[in-house]
Amino acid sequence: MQDPDQIPHPRDSLRAGETTLQDNAPISAGLRFIGVIHTPFAQRGDCPRQGDREGGPECRVELDPRYGPALDGVDRFDTLELLYWLHQARRDLLTQSPRGRDDLRGTFSLRSPVRPNPIGTSIVRLLRREGNVLIVRGLDCLDGTPLLDIKPDRCSYTVQAAPKA
Ligand code: SAM
Repeated sequence: MQDPDQIPHPRDSLRAGETTLQDNAPISAGLRFIGVIHTPFAQRGDCPRQGDREGGPECRVELDPRYGPALDGVDRFDTLELLYWLHQARRDLLTQSPRGRDDLRGTFSLRSPVRPNPIGTSIVRLLRREGNVLIVRGLDCLDGTPLLDIKPDRCSYTVQAAPKA
């Protein structure tokens, strides 16, 4: 799998008033890409802002076969949480003017792909498993986005409230 820092990404131009980090902090952790996500979205402009797990297109989540045994049991879940590396996002914006808006907001008050660690998450509907490939609905990322992790949707583990007396 490719090293995230070796993947070229565009230096997008700044919008009015946006501010950037002047002094980059050192990289603190190494990540392992565990697969690749295939979607019909070839350009960032084609991607929805958030995925639609009911009406969105079918997408293929291809796991690196070395991690195949780690998929054991995922088919028991209707929904899964996927974490992925938004590899074409710049990483230095502190304040941003989100697409289609005039105001400036702090990066940590947004779900923008542009952030120090461009991790995206989506809760997706698992339609079926084909060996090391999961067919899902509900993604919003570019075709070729590296996959970081797969977890059962945390709702499946939500403790049920005790019945009212
Ligand atoms: N659902 C994720 C989340 O909430 O963490 C990501 C939301 S983010 C607003 C989704 C947008 O990121 C897309 O509309 C697209 O503009 C952009 N994007 C998608 N894939 C990307 C990638 N691989 N690199 C950079 N930007 C990407």
